[in-house]
Amino acid sequence: MADSPRDYYGLLGVSKDATPEELKRAYRKLARQLHPDVNPDASAQERFKEVTTAYEVLSDPEKRRIVDLGGDPLQQGAGSAGNPFSGFGGFGDVFEAFFGGGAAAGGRGRRSRVRPGADALLQMTLTLDEAAFGVRKELNVETAVVCDTCAGSGCAPGTSPKTCASCGGSGELQSVQRSFLGQVMTSRPCPSCAGTGEQIPTPCPTCGTEGRVRARRTITVDVPGGIEDGMRIRLAGQGEVGPGGGPAGDLYVEIAEAPHDTFTRDGADLHCTIAVPMTAAALGTDLVLTTLDGEEKLEIRAGTQSGAVLTLRGKGVPKLRSSARGDLHVHVDVRTPTRLDDEQERLLRELADLRHEDVAAVTKGSGLFGKMRDAFGGR
Ligand code: ZN
Repeated sequence: MADSPRDYYGLLGVSKDATPEELKRAYRKLARQLHPDVNPDASAQERFKEVTTAYEVLSDPEKRRIVDLGGDPLQQGAGSAGNPFSGFGGFGDVFEAFFGGGAAAGGRGRRSRVRPGADALLQMTLTLDEAAFGVRKELNVETAVVCDTCAGSGCAPGTSPKTCASCGGSGELQSVQRSFLGQVMTSRPCPSCAGTGEQIPTPCPTCGTEGRVRARRTITVDVPGGIEDGMRIRLAGQGEVGPGGGPAGDLYVEIAEAPHDTFTRDGADLHCTIAVPMTAAALGTDLVLTTLDGEEKLEIRAGTQSGAVLTLRGKGVPKLRSSARGDLHVHVDVRTPTRLDDEQERLLRELADLRHEDVAAVTKGSGLFGKMRDAFGGR
């Protein structure tokens, strides 16, 4: 599928727990060396682009979260490859790092009213069986969709936008600012038209001028087997439609795994505990365990100790995108009988006499008591 995620932290030379302030500082420092106005070298320009991309990704909390989860928010699925709206949204953030809030990149010209939509995130709860073997699920989602009345234009049917009177259609108001690069012509979006150069005289009766409305729909999600709690499935182009009916962002479905009655999961491995009476553990017994694959016969050998672990190879959870499977570990908990009646007590005493087991043996340094004794300076 896609390449492995880029090392955005490495590109900026910051640690994974860098604060927004540290990110900004690291980026400014690199940009001073690499900015095309300062360093015309082709490799520096390439680096400048990479560093800028890294800064844009890490300064966006949602994108940074994807990076921290091991993903790459800029990696495109096959469906959206070549989408001109994919990736990050222009140089707004970057110039904000240089010039402070409000200033936009110089020479950007007017912005389209059509803007890419945001990503959406929702949660889906799965049972252990569903997460283990995969499942196809219907999901009811509410996102912004293109307004039917105006087909995204934001204008009442039969009307069209007119040129903005404040900026004459350029979408920006220009000013000169001093910076470490010398005097820089900056421009900010025209406030009257939000940088679009257009105004809508007769807004759409359904959506105002937004070009999009919120709507519920049902989508089908194919969950691959082996998925784990906290993982996200990306559905390209199923997120929010943008202003002006712009292309939809992606929809991320985050998996929550419901606890199972018997098993706890550790990656591809499963664990469970069985309680075995002392007599059965001593004499040996068979029992039947319901695993993910159905009933499995389990032999408890004579003399099994409490804490013993029986491993059923390949009876765990399938690994993601693999035919391999984890193991099922069965932990044995031997139960000592309580509330003995007279006859039972007599039999046990007889057994203890026969085995000369009327005293407990002290063994060196093992278990909790050993540790406590060490802690108190005993030997
Ligand atoms: Zn509309």
